[in-house]
Amino acid sequence: MRILRRLLLVAVGIALLAALWHAVRPPQRTLYRGGPIFTMDAEDRVVEALAVEGDRIVAAGSEDELWPWATEHGARVVELEGRALLPGFVDAHGHFPGSGFTAIASDLNSPPIGEVERIDDVVALLAAGAGDTDPGDWVLGLGYDDTLLAEKRHPTREDLDRVSTEHPVGALHVSGHLAAVNSLGLERLGIGADTPDPEGGLIRRDPATGEPDGVLEETAFDELGAVLFRPSPLDSWRIVRRATEEYLAQGVTTAQNGFATAEQISGLALLSRLGLLPLRLVMLPDEAAADAIADGTLSVSADPLWLHVAAVKLVADGSIQGYTGYLSEPYFVPPGDDPSYRGYPRIPREQLFERVARQHARGHQLAIHGNGDASIEDILDALEATLAESPRDDARPVIIHAQMARDDQLDRMAALGVIPSFFVLHTYYWGDRHRELFMGPERAARMSPTRSAAERGIPFTLHADTPIVPMEPLRIVWSAVNRRSRSGAVIGEGERIDVMRALRGVTIDAARQHFEEADKGSLEPGKLADLVILDRSPLDDPATIDEIRVVETVIGGRSVYRAEDE
Ligand SMILES: [Zn+2]
Repeated sequence: MRILRRLLLVAVGIALLAALWHAVRPPQRTLYRGGPIFTMDAEDRVVEALAVEGDRIVAAGSEDELWPWATEHGARVVELEGRALLPGFVDAHGHFPGSGFTAIASDLNSPPIGEVERIDDVVALLAAGAGDTDPGDWVLGLGYDDTLLAEKRHPTREDLDRVSTEHPVGALHVSGHLAAVNSLGLERLGIGADTPDPEGGLIRRDPATGEPDGVLEETAFDELGAVLFRPSPLDSWRIVRRATEEYLAQGVTTAQNGFATAEQISGLALLSRLGLLPLRLVMLPDEAAADAIADGTLSVSADPLWLHVAAVKLVADGSIQGYTGYLSEPYFVPPGDDPSYRGYPRIPREQLFERVARQHARGHQLAIHGNGDASIEDILDALEATLAESPRDDARPVIIHAQMARDDQLDRMAALGVIPSFFVLHTYYWGDRHRELFMGPERAARMSPTRSAAERGIPFTLHADTPIVPMEPLRIVWSAVNRRSRSGAVIGEGERIDVMRALRGVTIDAARQHFEEADKGSLEPGKLADLVILDRSPLDDPATIDEIRVVETVIGGRSVYRAEDE
């Protein structure tokens, strides 16, 4: 703790000096020219020049218009040399700093993200982690995917007992909606043969003995989540630092924590206030945190341009690839013996109505996770009832993922002003398995229905749900434009969208989803100078947008990342 306090003092000192420096220094003026500048304004204009003063944009237009300003003020001129300048990417849904957990937990992802191919690999990686962990402490891993393991099943308590019987061991499924733990882990979580399944969750069991087999679904591993997401202060700092580096290197200027506890909000707000976080954040509080903010027990004193508390987050169902998404029709290949299996709600319908109404009444914007169409139906019914009961202009409710949204549900979203935020990268990472396993070819072709939403004028956004998959906004854009799976198959040609529409989903429309479009998301006078420079224009070759490199990331007029060979 003493080290931490000293660290904090040094940080406060640095923050004060930095504030002083900014106060006495004249604002820096910069003119960007010589490459396509994507404004992402209402007309999707691509212009020749951009003028920045201090942390704000002062003008975007032709070189003829902006040269006199640059000359008069002796502005620094940045030559783009054909590279493209865009608004910095805004994370429409993710869990910052979740990807940084690889600083303290094993990465159990399979290719193309990681290297795990079989359960023995999971065991070996976790065993290596156990070697670096104090006796009795949790050994954690993230991101295993049962459908990509040779055995095509989840690791069980017996598999994980091979990692250690002296450490509790927990492995989080790639969906974030299931986890596997070893025997000591189950004991620590107080889960035994007599433990009933919690509401909205399932303790998987050996059919013969009734003993838990180690796999916990949804609310059944909430306790493990509390362990996972409450690391020590030093570990927290390592996690935040790693995630920040990853995001900045991908051109992200606003990151989101899309399900934040009160503890995470106050911790990140402190780092932000001390100037230790060079990235802007949007926090979606969970209901407990939202209540704490509403009743004054949690006050967030960070600068809202750096840490903005947005919609309250609810989770109505699970994930399709974890077989916990709640569908109106059965899964294509059911996970067990029941051919009518359609997943289940995480929040029972009546309770969802109550909770939505309650948060709306407190004045909050709502962001509700829903993947299966049965879940989306419940969410839309709850929103419709709430908005009919107490109408509010421009409430902008968000349905996070809306993966299996049907056309009739998109019509309702358009009518209610709902913003769906699509995880379109599903077509890449899980596209083949959605066709063959989870959804079957027909439903797979129209999952994450971006074109259908665009045709209805719905201002949808696009996200990677990081750490579910890596934070790569350009891969998101590529995926929305091409909808190619890992095997190269096109998953739903009819739902492809054009490059500009896809870019809006990670810039201006994402800012609008957060009620931040006055400050972020496009390159227009008065907005923050949050910028990204790419090594080429995304319009040049739409088939290879995922190969475009980020050259530089600028936040509030300050360069925060530069590619090494630049
Ligand atoms: Zn999420």
